[in-house]
Amino acid sequence: MNIDLSSQIELAAQLIRNSKYAVAFTGAGISTASGIPDFRSPGTGLWEKYDPFEVASLSSFKNNPEKFFTWIKSLYLQAKSAKPNRAHQFLSQMEKKGIIKSIITQNIDGLHQKSGAVRVIELHGSARTVTCPNCRVSYNSDRLLEKMKNDALLLTCSKCGHILKPDMVLFEETLPEKAWISAHMEARKADLFLVIGSSLEVYPANTLPEIAIRNGAKLIINTHSKTPMDQLADALICMDVTKSIPKIFELIET
Ligand code: ZN
Repeated sequence: MNIDLSSQIELAAQLIRNSKYAVAFTGAGISTASGIPDFRSPGTGLWEKYDPFEVASLSSFKNNPEKFFTWIKSLYLQAKSAKPNRAHQFLSQMEKKGIIKSIITQNIDGLHQKSGAVRVIELHGSARTVTCPNCRVSYNSDRLLEKMKNDALLLTCSKCGHILKPDMVLFEETLPEKAWISAHMEARKADLFLVIGSSLEVYPANTLPEIAIRNGAKLIINTHSKTPMDQLADALICMDVTKSIPKIFELIET
């Protein structure tokens, strides 16, 4: 590790130690080491056969559900079998110890919860449930996967027969209101905002660090790629989050 990176890691640990209300914000980059591709970013494995803006959209779900469910099957199977990596595990430990107060995530894979985190706000919904758009009954998506395995790609509501919709936010959809309000509140409360594995490209989730900064929060950015907010970061760690997060935790604990 070069000197600059280790000094930024030390600085991040110090900022976290000195904070009273640290909030983490995670993106696809934290889950790639668990084998989950970034479903919103073209160029990843999941997109070789599909145009993301076409298939992962509300109109695709409505107009071409067979194609939509063929695509989503691979995403759901990956999410179901994926295991939390070291970044999830150490972040969860920080949450349990109260070092960070909450985790706002853009991911739908449930890996923060699988690693034991409790205060998780899922901005883009979740792969764990599906809901009937007609009568609002919610189902566990394991049932969806079981049906999909038997090649019955469309899952219908047992109450009204409508095609069930996965509870993940698709293109052309707005964010779940409750999650957005909670995330907003956390960003305003934060005196330290940690961006982990997000390139801050997806709107409106990427406005949260700005809200935090405007309210006086310090900013740590730890992601592999550049972000539009790098200039504003108090600590900038451009490295694999599965390596940096355990290191930061170790420094905080000593
Ligand atoms: Zn229904």
